[in-house]
Amino acid sequence: MDSVLAVDVGGTKMAAGIVSADGDLLARSARPTPKGDDAEAVFVALVDAIQEVRTGNEVSCGVGSGGPMTRGGASVSPLNIPGWRGFPLRDRLSDALGLPVHIDNDAKALALGEGWRGAARGERNFLAMVVSTGVGGGIVLDGRLLDGEDSNAGHIGHVIVEPDGRVCPCGAQGCLEAEASGTAIAARTGAPAAEASEEERQRAGRLVGRGVASVVSLLDLPLAVVAGSVALGYGDLFFEAAQHELSQRARIEFTSGARIAPAGLGDEGPLVGAAAVALRAEGHGIGVA
Ligand SMILES: [Zn+2]
Repeated sequence: MDSVLAVDVGGTKMAAGIVSADGDLLARSARPTPKGDDAEAVFVALVDAIQEVRTGNEVSCGVGSGGPMTRGGASVSPLNIPGWRGFPLRDRLSDALGLPVHIDNDAKALALGEGWRGAARGERNFLAMVVSTGVGGGIVLDGRLLDGEDSNAGHIGHVIVEPDGRVCPCGAQGCLEAEASGTAIAARTGAPAAEASEEERQRAGRLVGRGVASVVSLLDLPLAVVAGSVALGYGDLFFEAAQHELSQRARIEFTSGARIAPAGLGDEGPLVGAAAVALRAEGHGIGVA
């Protein structure tokens, strides 16, 4: 099989890459995501990034995008891209490229990528999550990525970790995203999340471990891999606190060895994951169905 185009749609940047059938990222490009409510300006930036890397040998295009979206990405409304509300991304991109386009939630894409080439390779049951500006996740159970009713399965960012905590953008109170995302940390401390104190870094890890504990118990998962600028930027302080909390909170016998670990693909994860979205949709073996 030839290579695939991979696209990562984000609120800060639009990234594109070429990924081989074995999951090697061969080329990449990016454009800043235009601010404001001009839907076409955002789409033009995306297509520009793709055209920079495209060789003409790619057989399909996979996309990871922030949600919410309708099933298959026919219509996307990423929370951090105000210009796209109900934007028909799949058809627009397919028309522009002349290729089949497959779209999924960016955190689900990351789960596919981590299972294919990353820290969850060979695992049939795991949670993959992103702790950055927001908090997202994807779940692989019995070797299959969970989709759910509207394809939104895995939204661990809206698991409650502090019942009396901050109000979340979703409207609930004390969601993991409202307590441990970069946005939440900045709001709590009055400074960028990257400048947070050791105590604040450990607190973020602890709350992520708390959310993960509920999920591993619910689904019998031995592993959670975590990506994102907050988690990876905070490093050992974050992961040691997360593991300690997970071990304290997930005590039933089958969860007792559950591990939480850094994701393995680093900054290639979103694009390798986007490629995996296309390969999965077309029935190619990537280790996760
Ligand atoms: Zn929420």
